Amino acid sequence: MAEDSIAVVDLDRCQPDRCNYECANYCPPNRTGKECITKRSEAEDPELLDGAPDQIRISEEICLGESCGICVTKCPFDAIEIINLPGELAESPAHRYGENAFGLYGLPAPQEGRVTGVLGPNGIGKSTAVRVLAGEITPNLGRHREEPSWEAVLDEYRGTALQDYLEDLRGGKLDVARKPQYVDRIPDQFDGRTIDLLSGVDERDAVDEVTERLGIAGVVDQDIDTLSGGELQRVALAAALVRDADFYFIDEITPYLDIGQRVTAARLIRELAEEEDRSMMVIEHDLAILDLVADTVHVTYGEPGAFGVVTTPKSTRNGINEYLDGYLEAENMRIRQSAIRFEEHAPRQGSHGETLVEYPALTKSYGEGEFTLEVEPGEIRHNEVLGIVGPNGIGKSTFAELLTGRLEPTDGEVDTRLDIAYKPQYIEIDQPMRVDAFLASITDDFGSSYWNTEIAGPLQLERIMEQQLTDLSGGERQRVAIAACLSKDADLYLLDEPSAFLDVEQRVQATTAIRRYTENNDATAMVIDHDIYMIDLLADRLQVFDGTPAERGHAGQPVGMREGMNEFLANLDITFRRDQNTGRPRINKPGSQLDRKQKKQGEYYYA
Ligand code: ADP
Ligand code: ADP
Ligand code: SF4
Repeated sequence: MAEDSIAVVDLDRCQPDRCNYECANYCPPNRTGKECITKRSEAEDPELLDGAPDQIRISEEICLGESCGICVTKCPFDAIEIINLPGELAESPAHRYGENAFGLYGLPAPQEGRVTGVLGPNGIGKSTAVRVLAGEITPNLGRHREEPSWEAVLDEYRGTALQDYLEDLRGGKLDVARKPQYVDRIPDQFDGRTIDLLSGVDERDAVDEVTERLGIAGVVDQDIDTLSGGELQRVALAAALVRDADFYFIDEITPYLDIGQRVTAARLIRELAEEEDRSMMVIEHDLAILDLVADTVHVTYGEPGAFGVVTTPKSTRNGINEYLDGYLEAENMRIRQSAIRFEEHAPRQGSHGETLVEYPALTKSYGEGEFTLEVEPGEIRHNEVLGIVGPNGIGKSTFAELLTGRLEPTDGEVDTRLDIAYKPQYIEIDQPMRVDAFLASITDDFGSSYWNTEIAGPLQLERIMEQQLTDLSGGERQRVAIAACLSKDADLYLLDEPSAFLDVEQRVQATTAIRRYTENNDATAMVIDHDIYMIDLLADRLQVFDGTPAERGHAGQPVGMREGMNEFLANLDITFRRDQNTGRPRINKPGSQLDRKQKKQGEYYYA
């Protein structure tokens, strides 16, 4: 086969007992008697067999490459990918998990005193790269039949930016602190009080300062299993940042955090790099935050699940712009057919649909001395997407519960009992059930061409339909939960943080799916989200919540986007400018000339 091609077989999908080896029966080299597609047990690689039925292996030496691709179309389970690697990719992989398995090309390079960002889709090998940099995997340079050796790795990377780092890693001289991606799993791994977890790793004697800054000092005496997702996220961040490490790796800062908390966390990470000369590496899909936190960015691209390429570092601005544009300049590489555009549009003028629900001034108090929410009178209109912004713990869910009638207001009355389809922030769909059965149980439209075009397509559900709900990754669960919500028959669709754990492209696709669904179905949606890009792309009007979290909340009237963004960002004291090339919003440096000018004009966003 062409030297620069790889064959990838997804062993979770290959089910030879159900297909009678269609791939091998049709493979042209096989038909002329060559051993291109064979059974794994014949591959003298017994460890790969692992007790499973005889799955296939594909000889990359014999295979004719992507231009043949017959097996790819014959496989009924979508288990095979034959890919011509980009011609520019002369180097061998840094690591390949095995024969016909995922391969990673290139590695990001940590730098002392700097924050290195990593930007790219899910499933492209970012965590694999980090496992290499943390010393958990000795990279095999694609020679997966040989015992991997650090000598070979050092030879390969001599003279590159990674040489010193890898030498220190091999010599055992590097301490690595990691913040894992899925913080929801922490309570399964750790029992007991939060402060005990944090004190146990407080090598820099910094717990008091870091918990104070992150706003979690008030919960450290609680048991870990009583914390909310947003609190867990900050505890996990604190647990990494108080370590005395050479290299800190943060796998997503933002899920479950509000914008103020995101910005604070980003600043804390920057300070640790700058003031203590540490190496920080951050994976992040909220572009406003990545822009704020990173000095340089490695873009990753490829074919999720098959191969991933890590570019050399780019300036943060160029890296993000090129990624959105879909074209990498230095690599002369198109990574996506079309650009993702954040066009500088005038703020939407709001919707003019009929009133869906009108409510008077409302108050909800949970009891003497407990949280109280005051709601200004307002209306939600048919066929609009109402964006909801405000800090965590300020009463957004409480307001939604008042609209469903599940909660009674303390003062005031909500007339209409709306049927609300709700996607909560913390998704609980852990039933022992397949994705297709779960979604079919929600709507009779499941599988219709309309449902496929409007929901399954944009949310990329086709490839995960046969998976068990319990086996899904965070981003997959999110997409299934959004689909489940939109598939219900309801007056109002309420989605709480649909962006969490989605990569940038998935965010844009989910946004498009939600907007199109409301437009085509005369539906109304309320979307709570903390990714400002997503809110700007999504919403017709904004409702801003403010107050003191956990004590007192105030819900403003739904207003136009300009007024809403100004009110919301003034509360946070943050202004945005537009990138000159792409029009994407960027956070201004506090106190900069633009920041001061925009604040004076009262234009925080659509300046
Ligand atoms: P990302 O962090 O970008 O989401 P990962 O590095 O977690 O991506 O995974 C990249 C690919 O490598 C995935 O398709 C995953 O299935 C595959 N992979 C991860 N770990 C292993 C393993 N131990 N054996 C085989 N494949 C793996
Ligand atoms: P948000 O959705 O903005 O994060 P919530 O409406 O969930 O905020 O919560 C606002 C405040 O009300 C929080 O401090 C929360 O702990 C408190 N709260 C929510 N539900 C109850 C309840 N049933 N009893 C007492 N307090 C509650
Ligand atoms: Fe055989 Fe390769 Fe063609 Fe698949 S792509 S049928 S393995 S030659």
